[in-house]
Amino acid sequence: MKLTVMQILTSLKEIPERCSCGNCRIMPTVRECLCCKEVDKITDIMTEGVTHAQCICEHPGFHSVCLDRYLLQVAYYQYRQQYGERQEQENTRARYTAYRQFVRWCWHYLGKEVRVVLPSCVVSTIRDAFPDQNYTGFHSPDSD
Ligand SMILES: [Zn+2]
Ligand SMILES: [Zn+2]
Repeated sequence: MKLTVMQILTSLKEIPERCSCGNCRIMPTVRECLCCKEVDKITDIMTEGVTHAQCICEHPGFHSVCLDRYLLQVAYYQYRQQYGERQEQENTRARYTAYRQFVRWCWHYLGKEVRVVLPSCVVSTIRDAFPDQNYTGFHSPDSD
């Protein structure tokens, strides 16, 4: 079987070369292949305090801020009150809210839309936590 150049590249480079945190994945565009260690605001958080996180996703704050379903729900209520309802599936909404929470955590300021490029590791971790219900089928949060 002959592999296409793209398939070879994908199999060789599970982790993009630019990544120094170990958790980034290849994203569709170069702009999105950003590593958390390339962003000053993020490395500031990683170096402050006594954590030894190699990646922002391994920082104890990341789980509390971006992956806690209840916290995301409350954050969404606040968003809804300010900007109105988003007509989306629950996980899509959870992901979007998680991205917003991440921006608020690192940049403090937040408008209606997420306008900064988020590191690949952050996007992938949030996507894994709240997968699209379309292709995963029904998945109960209590089952894992
Ligand atoms: Zn990385
Ligand atoms: Zn990272």
